[in-house]
Amino acid sequence: MTNRTMTENDKRPPFDNDIIYGTLRRVFGFSGFRRDQERIVRAILENRDVLAVMPTGGGKSLCYQLPAVMLPGACLVVSPLIALMKDQVDGALANGIRGAFLNSSLSPAEQDDVLRQLQLDELDLLYIAPERFAFERFRDIAAKARISMAVIDEAHCISEWGHDFRPDYLSLSRLVTLFPDVPVAAFTATATHKVQDDILGRLCLRDPLVVRASFDRNNLFYDIRFKENAGEQLVSILKDKPGKAGIIYRTSRKSVNDTALMLRAKGFRALPYHAGLGDEERIRNQEAFIRDEVDVIVATIAFGMGIDKSNIRFVIHADLPKSIENYYQETGRAGRDGEPAHCILLFSHGDIHKVRFFIDSVADEAERARALGAFSKVISFASSSVCRRKILLEYFGESYPEQNCGNCDICTGSRKTLNCTREAQMLLSAIVRTDERFGASHIIDIVTGSSNRKVLDFGHDRLKTYGAGKGKTKTFWKRLVDELLARKVISRAEGLYPALCLLPEAFRVLKNVTEIEMAEVVETKRRKSTVAIAARQENGELFELLRSLRKQIADEQGVPPYVVFSDRSLRDMSSLLPCDEESMLAVTGVGEVKLERYGRQFISCIIRWCGTSNNGE
Ligand code: ADP
Ligand code: ZN
Repeated sequence: MTNRTMTENDKRPPFDNDIIYGTLRRVFGFSGFRRDQERIVRAILENRDVLAVMPTGGGKSLCYQLPAVMLPGACLVVSPLIALMKDQVDGALANGIRGAFLNSSLSPAEQDDVLRQLQLDELDLLYIAPERFAFERFRDIAAKARISMAVIDEAHCISEWGHDFRPDYLSLSRLVTLFPDVPVAAFTATATHKVQDDILGRLCLRDPLVVRASFDRNNLFYDIRFKENAGEQLVSILKDKPGKAGIIYRTSRKSVNDTALMLRAKGFRALPYHAGLGDEERIRNQEAFIRDEVDVIVATIAFGMGIDKSNIRFVIHADLPKSIENYYQETGRAGRDGEPAHCILLFSHGDIHKVRFFIDSVADEAERARALGAFSKVISFASSSVCRRKILLEYFGESYPEQNCGNCDICTGSRKTLNCTREAQMLLSAIVRTDERFGASHIIDIVTGSSNRKVLDFGHDRLKTYGAGKGKTKTFWKRLVDELLARKVISRAEGLYPALCLLPEAFRVLKNVTEIEMAEVVETKRRKSTVAIAARQENGELFELLRSLRKQIADEQGVPPYVVFSDRSLRDMSSLLPCDEESMLAVTGVGEVKLERYGRQFISCIIRWCGTSNNGE
């Protein structure tokens, strides 16, 4: 499969477009590059070092796998995620690339076998854990083998500024001296400039091409909804996404367990994942998700680092994330295949206190201040009515030029506002008339006319505002309290008795100078035009058939389904209906090897389906 016509000494022959695009098509089945991929590939082919900062799903693997196939010798890929290496290698093998990995999960005999392949120049790609470099024996063998280039994946691990600093990574500065004649390419999805500069400094890259791709994930629909009853909301969201893969993030282990149980009781295929489960169960649940055996994983943030599943169609944050970085990284796990995916955050002001409580318990003062600063950005992100994408990108120092991204709840107008000035005045008046001594639930009891003991005991049923707001639900009033808190119209006392009291802005509201608007809770309707794919004709029934064929093949071969074909490929097949090999090759992600391995089975499935569905008409 590999292109190896050049001679031993012909280290960096010029590659023309035909060869590059031909290999892209033939091996990977792609008809073009994604943004920035081509620049990176060309730099590597020209023997130049590279640092590429690209978002998850940006297509980093292709940037080195393509040159790895074209250049003589093996491409060494240093990656900290042992769990991911096998998937990466399976993916490469499925495309006919000669890949292997070396890590502690292999037996000594298996390791020797891989080293032998390296010595015999039988590999295009070799994934290794960073600590391999500490082994002199490995370095000796590598120094004598034919190495085409070195890649450092998750390069932010070398930076102490990053959240997953790995001391093992420090030894990677030796790569440049160990392989002086070949390019070193570092990749990361961590966007901060501080980390980026740190990587450059520590790896000692030589006049590298530095590429900072846009962090815009334009296939992700960002959607923030008010959290009212998380359980009911999750059920209704999942009903809308039958059979689709998704992650639900929750903060505590208990809420993870409870949510997973509740969803299973309602008939959804869901499993929990958190650090409190035994190793075995955790791995089993993760595997079941990766292999499409369950649709939903309910998890704490411990989940996601080591997985590469490309067909995750939604990520739901049922609790507030602690920082924008976390939110971006977690939502980023959706839609790596470039297909539309939905990111929903359930937001309630009540959750703010829970996170604040947690942050307050952090002992180190500087750390506490940092956490608070990061969290306050999450609150303003969630309560703002500015395009979600714009805020996210600006957070990462990127300016977003569009007025309307067409792919978030704000820009698609799925978030309607309601003028609630009159209702706000009722609340404020109830707070004033009870001398700012009561908490939200009591105030709400007053305006909704509850005959609760406490209300009667205090004689609050004789107040002018008593029952004035009967027409609206308690949930409505809770949200309005949240809204007034967020807008700093009222504040809540700290401590044991969280009484509500008025802030200066309240008087402007009472005098009708400031109007209060609140988002109305409506189901999101997505605008079709935004993601081109949505408009395409595709056949749901056929898609499902192809999906189960994919699952069957994946199980037989012991690989995750997305390694066989991506969702994107299956969608292409179900809209293009390729009935012969040539038209099958036009499908995204179908290269020569996959055509040879799986083409026939998928073509017959399509032909059979066409036959039956025509007969049925
Ligand atoms: P990252 O490692 O940056 O998160 P991946 O390398 O896993 O991203 O790529 C994400 C997805 O995009 C994969 O399903 C991959 O097959 C697909 N992909 C990458 N490059 C292209 C391309 N040029 N055309 C179509 N799909 C691509
Ligand atoms: Zn938008």
